Amino acid sequence: MSLKGKKAIVTGGSRGIGAAIARQLAAEGADVAITYAGNREGAEVTVAAIEKAGARGFAFQADAANSASQQAGIEQAAAALGGIDILVQNAGVAAFSTLDTDTDDAFDRMFDTNVKGLNVGLRTALPHLGEGGRVILIGSVVADKGFAANGIYSGTKGAVKAMGRAWALELAPRGILVNVVQPGATDTDMNPADGEFARQVTSMVPLGRYGRPEEIANAVTFLASDKASYITGTTLNVDGGVTV
Ligand code: NDP
Repeated sequence: MSLKGKKAIVTGGSRGIGAAIARQLAAEGADVAITYAGNREGAEVTVAAIEKAGARGFAFQADAANSASQQAGIEQAAAALGGIDILVQNAGVAAFSTLDTDTDDAFDRMFDTNVKGLNVGLRTALPHLGEGGRVILIGSVVADKGFAANGIYSGTKGAVKAMGRAWALELAPRGILVNVVQPGATDTDMNPADGEFARQVTSMVPLGRYGRPEEIANAVTFLASDKASYITGTTLNVDGGVTV
């Protein structure tokens, strides 16, 4: 699955799933620019791993929830790479919310980061993406399966899935393929496998365990590769069977 010569952007690449995706794309030969919110140290670790794989690596602070910041980050990344072949929009935030306790601030933070950030990100990247370009959005299984105390976050990921389908149709005539990867429970800071609710979550997973960030990255790398040249508008659940 060689990605030699490809130029990739991964939003939220300073840790977790985004860092694993950035490392794996680089291991396949792509130059990779990541964005991050505030964790410069984590971003530097990812860049070092990209460079260790023999690729060019860059990191830019860009708040996905802020249109001007997101736009600037994607533009800086495109300039550093000298173009974009692969755009992975992974940056996201999650928080429990119940109808009794939620706030407009929590709603805005999740929708601004997880939904508006992706719209601004793709709009900004689009002039740099040509025929054969790949756009991969990181959604979540919560778009397909209900979880209590999760209404706002689930709403953001339902939107990601729907936007992915619409964008796939809009960009098909330009030869740009758009797909959504929906992780299930994956062991990261957002959802640690030894966290408060981990046992309850694991009990719902047919494979009986959390996923590893690398297992989500495997799906993204495939969709970014030539092997996925006839796949667009699809949603790939990488979830240990939780949505079955
Ligand atoms: P983490 O919390 O471990 O990492 C989040 C990453 O996104 C970090 O790199 C963080 O940067 C970045 N980020 C967060 N907010 C912003 C922002 N406003 N602007 C730019 N970057 C931002 O999360 P995961 O790796 O677990 O999640 C990655 C994606 O996968 C998210 O979209 C999430 O919703 C999705 N997902 C995760 C699941 C899981 O179980 N872990 C399950 C299903 C979906 P920084 O380090 O600077 O804070």
